[in-house]
Amino acid sequence: MLVKNALKLDPSHTKFLRDSFEKQIRKVYAAIEKEILSEISGGAFRLGMPATVFESHATRVKQFKTWLEKLLDDAFMRTDATGNPWWVDYVNRGYKSGVLRAYHESRREILDPTAQLVLGDTGLLSFPFSLHGPASYADALLKQRKILRRLEMLREGIEHNFADIASSLSSQSGRIVIDALHRNVAPRTLARTLAANLERSLKKRGIPLSYAEVVRFHADGELDGFENLGADRLRLDVEWKTMEDPCPKCAAMAGEVFPIEEARGVIPLHPQCRCSWVLAS
Ligand SMILES: [Zn+2]
Repeated sequence: MLVKNALKLDPSHTKFLRDSFEKQIRKVYAAIEKEILSEISGGAFRLGMPATVFESHATRVKQFKTWLEKLLDDAFMRTDATGNPWWVDYVNRGYKSGVLRAYHESRREILDPTAQLVLGDTGLLSFPFSLHGPASYADALLKQRKILRRLEMLREGIEHNFADIASSLSSQSGRIVIDALHRNVAPRTLARTLAANLERSLKKRGIPLSYAEVVRFHADGELDGFENLGADRLRLDVEWKTMEDPCPKCAAMAGEVFPIEEARGVIPLHPQCRCSWVLAS
């Protein structure tokens, strides 16, 4: 019952992937937090000491920020066994799940079983259902140069997001340290303040990112999946599908029909958006 309801509420069918991505982001943040707590509480960069003529506050803040920026970069860009940053797997899986969704949706909407060969043989479909199952359809699609470029764009987008989060964290943490130095705050207290700021970043940026980005990968995969099935000669339109209890913004979009080109980049509409595309009938 729970699973059925979850799917009903989630037209993007990405709950599993979103939860998994969120879990990884939480882990990454937790590792950063652990490092900050242990280093800064332990007196690193002499952040709890009065300034001297040899070492100004500014010098210490600079050293701290250099250290923090490297810590953040290592955590957000850490590579996995494939040699890619750890989050690339989510881009690929989210995108592919969208391609597969498009395949299944199209099979239901465009073709009945007896029509498959006819449509396939006329060449209207570049990947006729009669010849390809969903997995080989997705594999063939993912070899196209255009699709590889799309995946690259999605990867660059998320890399930019992480860089942006890191840059905000660095600048906020720098201010926190300057303030602490001027008020002679103990290193342990400073470490806790930095950790609390990190928690805020996780809630405000990290977790929303895991949601919004997976929904984006999925929506883009769907659009490419639909577009490719239609080759050049079928005009395919997509329809906005919202969850059962959408936000007011998304509710207003329910059932709106878009040509595929105009649908690009529109979902997610907002950070908690779980909308997706279906073929317009
Ligand atoms: Zn939405």
